[in-house]
Amino acid sequence: MNMKDSTKSIWGGEEKSLIGGATQVPIVSSVVFGYDNVEEWSDVIEGKKSGYVYGRYNNPTVEAFEEKVRVLEGAEAAVSFTTGMAAINDTMFALLSPGDRIVSVKDTYGGTNRLFLDILPRFGIEVALCETHDHEEIEAEINKGCKLLYLETPTNPTMKINDISRLSKAAHNVGALVVVDNTVATPINQKPLKLGADLVVHSATKYLGGHADALGGVLCGLKDIVDKVYEYRMITGAPLDPTAAYSLIRGMKTLQIRIEKQNKNALAVANYLQTEPLVEKVFYPGLEDDSEHALAKKQMSGFGGMLSFSLKGGLETVYEFLPKLKHAHLAANLGAVETTIGPVHTTSHAECTLEERLAMGIPEGLVRYSTGIEDAEDLIDDLKQAFKHIENTVGVK
Ligand SMILES: *Cc1c(COP(=O)(O)O)cnc(C)c1O
Repeated sequence: MNMKDSTKSIWGGEEKSLIGGATQVPIVSSVVFGYDNVEEWSDVIEGKKSGYVYGRYNNPTVEAFEEKVRVLEGAEAAVSFTTGMAAINDTMFALLSPGDRIVSVKDTYGGTNRLFLDILPRFGIEVALCETHDHEEIEAEINKGCKLLYLETPTNPTMKINDISRLSKAAHNVGALVVVDNTVATPINQKPLKLGADLVVHSATKYLGGHADALGGVLCGLKDIVDKVYEYRMITGAPLDPTAAYSLIRGMKTLQIRIEKQNKNALAVANYLQTEPLVEKVFYPGLEDDSEHALAKKQMSGFGGMLSFSLKGGLETVYEFLPKLKHAHLAANLGAVETTIGPVHTTSHAECTLEERLAMGIPEGLVRYSTGIEDAEDLIDDLKQAFKHIENTVGVK
């Protein structure tokens, strides 16, 4: 059946009930699963039969979550993790060996950037980080030979876009795998596997869960590759907790309607911010005059709920402005039903130094604004009153 995304968000992984006709996926907290005889137990261990053995390997609640993501991304297989960073880390360590080379961009999520700069090189893995905007440079680095191309688009927080199908072709020409972090876009706005990527990773903590009450990560894509990462995770031990899986499943049921609203809210807020004298620049690919608009339009079906903007007067203005907002949590999260806001040095790039952030093209006065599902007019009114408050206190205008 060719289901649409809203139907997949509801029914994915939930087509059969787990216990006694329950209409909701139960939290199976048992860490072990028993058998009546040793033959059956052995068959499950050897993979001849499907079943559960031990919570570090798999769990029915966790599998329902993985299945929901698998269906939404249109993947062959999915495996989940304690966090998004565990998903990214385990994917790298399961697939790469000393001497291998990765090509990626400078603008990836702060934690991913640290993995690339500090951790993987210690294991003899070479990482080439290109200017995010420069597709020619990325292609040239790919053509030197690499095992893996790692993209994150749109990037967090400056909302730059990379052309997934163009770069996937280049990577496949040299036999490399393509991994895309789809956290910011979500499968509602972008389907990397359809555009040519082999694997998709998510911080499920963000939009997939959507309620900022559960940590989680997931990898999906080609079955033989996902299986390899699953085996690595099974041994090294970062499985998603069943209670977190339950929260993520519950959150995902409203994914499609949340994203639809967040796309609209972000565009409305971005349009408003462009008229605000204290705002230096707005970064949102949904704006028609944004440098990323054309490419975003080509590969995304919606422009997302996240935007960023730089304030005149830099950090001083940021410190004044943020606490004046009534309807935005000052917090290091994105993708929740509530609007959150934060300066970049305490959120996505807390792991980086000021020099590293400036080298990435992240201005000091940049704030990340993740729109929730509140009313757009209320959000704009809130921003207006906060700007009014600081007009006279900050010495720019
Ligand atoms: C938050 C985030 C991650 C890391 O996810 P955690 O669940 O916090 O470990 C990775 N990529 C992106 C784009 C993120 O926003």
